[in-house]
Amino acid sequence: MSEIKFYDTLQAKVREFRPLDPRGKEVTLYTCGPTVYNYAHIGNFRTFVFEDLLRRFLEFRGFSVRHVMNVTDVDDKTIAGAAREKKTLRDYTAFYTQAFLEDMKTLRMLSPGIQPLATESIPDILTLVRKLLEQEYAYVADDGSVYYRVARFEKYGQLSKKKLDGNIAGARVDVDEYEKEEGADFVLWKAAKEGEPSWDSPWGKGRPGWHIECSAMCMRHLGETVDIHAGGEDLVFPHHENEIAQSEAATGKPFVNYWLHAKHLLVNGEKMSKSKGNFFTLRDLLAKGYDPMAIRYALLSVHYRHSLNFTLDGLKEAGEVIKKLDDCYWQCLSRLCVLNLPEKMGNEAAYDGAIGPELERSLEDDLNMAGFVAHMLEHITHLNKVLPSMGRLDLRGCVKFFKGLDGLLGLDIAAVDSIPEDIKTALGQYSEARKAKDFSRSDTLRKGIEGGGWLVKDGRPGEPSTVKKIRRTWDVKK
Ligand code: AMP
Ligand code: ZN
Repeated sequence: MSEIKFYDTLQAKVREFRPLDPRGKEVTLYTCGPTVYNYAHIGNFRTFVFEDLLRRFLEFRGFSVRHVMNVTDVDDKTIAGAAREKKTLRDYTAFYTQAFLEDMKTLRMLSPGIQPLATESIPDILTLVRKLLEQEYAYVADDGSVYYRVARFEKYGQLSKKKLDGNIAGARVDVDEYEKEEGADFVLWKAAKEGEPSWDSPWGKGRPGWHIECSAMCMRHLGETVDIHAGGEDLVFPHHENEIAQSEAATGKPFVNYWLHAKHLLVNGEKMSKSKGNFFTLRDLLAKGYDPMAIRYALLSVHYRHSLNFTLDGLKEAGEVIKKLDDCYWQCLSRLCVLNLPEKMGNEAAYDGAIGPELERSLEDDLNMAGFVAHMLEHITHLNKVLPSMGRLDLRGCVKFFKGLDGLLGLDIAAVDSIPEDIKTALGQYSEARKAKDFSRSDTLRKGIEGGGWLVKDGRPGEPSTVKKIRRTWDVKK
């Protein structure tokens, strides 16, 4: 097995991946989760689906992945949203957290083992702020807010490659998101404002800044140094830069070994974002009739370090790929279940569950999905060509190939892997009726099979008719 390589933003190069675990078994993965002030849009899901692929590939390679994805349920945006809707912060964020969990399921993302809420991590956040104050990496301002003293952390700017030249001594920034104030001292703990949610602290009532939340939750659940920390490219600065400053100042240890960042999903060349109003949520697309797996594939199929320009045409093309995978799979399964092929015929190992060396090689190469997709489509074309001459063992191997593919891409191609007896019998009778040119009987049988939740596909002359389970949006006749 060759090495896995990832592009590490900190070292700005592709590096061989080696986990910290001396047994080489466990990998710790922290992915910045959603800020729950709205439905996540599919730009957000580009990043989340990339992280899901990363985790699936590590698991495919036998690592046990400890995956933490936080939920940011207190920050500037959630507080403003709750105030706008005149709801408590908890009610407001609980609604969008639930919606996010549902969307994750719809997109077949693996559930992170641990999904901590920022509001339930206040004691860890306070401990971290206290440590930073003790070591003079932080100071308390007159109003009781606590700021990080950026000039004291020599490595500041290392991740985002920003220089501190523009730093105005004593400049402070107390909003969570900012771009220009490169070296400004950023807020760790914000003194309470009238009407805003707050918690007790040694510096008076207040609430955490966004950046300290992730440092605290990451170290709490995964330890002081983690293998991989990932997010979208907009998080490099200031969020991840600040996470490094906070965590490394507190522990004196490296915070993260590999930083992975996904490029943005664009619409007409611009970042899809809630503030620009140019976004689709997953629910918008489902309401328009798009299939969730087509959406997942559209997000996955472009290499995560390339911008992905989102279009509805692109989504349709993604649907065509899902249809192609589905068709090939159902051809294999139907033939396996319906044809009376001799047990020993074929070579199971030739198509065995392992996805094959070319596909695996592509993923080892910094999750190169462009290469993966090219090889995958080539393989499907090949399978379609050799299907008619496949024996029982070949077909079994094929089914395993699709299962392997599902494990990695999560596209839900091969979840149904048997055909019920009554459908098989009806299909046999249907083929007989067609052979006898009794089309009224074959029509009735076809309708019966459809009523049972299956579609019949007629074979080319001399080829058997096959079935597929009705599962996709396009399988349902309108
Ligand atoms: P947020 O809910 O805003 O905290 O963002 C959640 C995740 O989505 C973060 O990892 C962001 O970097 C990522 N993200 C935000 N906008 C986009 C976009 N247009 N394309 C890809 N990822 C994005
Ligand atoms: Zn974060």
